[in-house]
Amino acid sequence: MGLLRNSLCAMALSLFATSPGNSATLVEPTLHLKPQAAEGGGRVALTLDACGGKTDTRILSALVDNRIPATIFVTGIWLKHNAAAVEIMRAHPDLFELENHGGRHIPAVDTPRKIYGISSAGSPDAVQAEVESGAAALASAGGPAPKWFRGATAEYSPSAIAMIRKLGFKIAGFSVNGDGGSLLGAKETARRIGAAKDGDVIIAHINQPSHAAGEGVVQGLLALKQKGMTFVRLDDADDIGNDGTTE
Ligand SMILES: [Zn+2]
Repeated sequence: MGLLRNSLCAMALSLFATSPGNSATLVEPTLHLKPQAAEGGGRVALTLDACGGKTDTRILSALVDNRIPATIFVTGIWLKHNAAAVEIMRAHPDLFELENHGGRHIPAVDTPRKIYGISSAGSPDAVQAEVESGAAALASAGGPAPKWFRGATAEYSPSAIAMIRKLGFKIAGFSVNGDGGSLLGAKETARRIGAAKDGDVIIAHINQPSHAAGEGVVQGLLALKQKGMTFVRLDDADDIGNDGTTE
């Protein structure tokens, strides 16, 4: 009986693991920079998402004026409506690395569900379409091919992570949530970003010009620069992600 029960359990487990309708736990991977020989104030990577909407020129101008490099995750939707900002970014290839935030800002989760109220891609084919259409939009905007992907909401099903890796992208987690989806106030955003430590990967948003958080992003970045922190893009550093996102 014990044996039978065990094999039934094993069967149930394997059914659960392979059933397309299961609600497997989603992961929100972290990403860090590999530690370097200690010199100066340390290194951080600033990543900014351009999900849709417009461009926060407070942030874009501060990056250009203060020569702060950043990795910008753009969607196909955002690219279509922000040509002037794209032109500024392309004019400063030493500062801006543009990477793939998906074609239509749909979470890279291959089962149907909602994440923060947004419907997931819902199938492996739809995840693939989101990733490939994001890369195609960047290619038609004339830049180098993207190497990194970050899905909408930055949450993934483990099987979607494996698929995105097979498509040739590393997946960009983060270690400091700088602006809470651009919904935090300026003060708290500045505090979080200003507290980043050596090796951190910061996430914030560059597509919400009317939100107070954008002002905090600028203040936090200037505070880090003041402390002697060096900013690097994701492609300029060795990165360590968990949940199978980079290795
Ligand atoms: Zn986004």
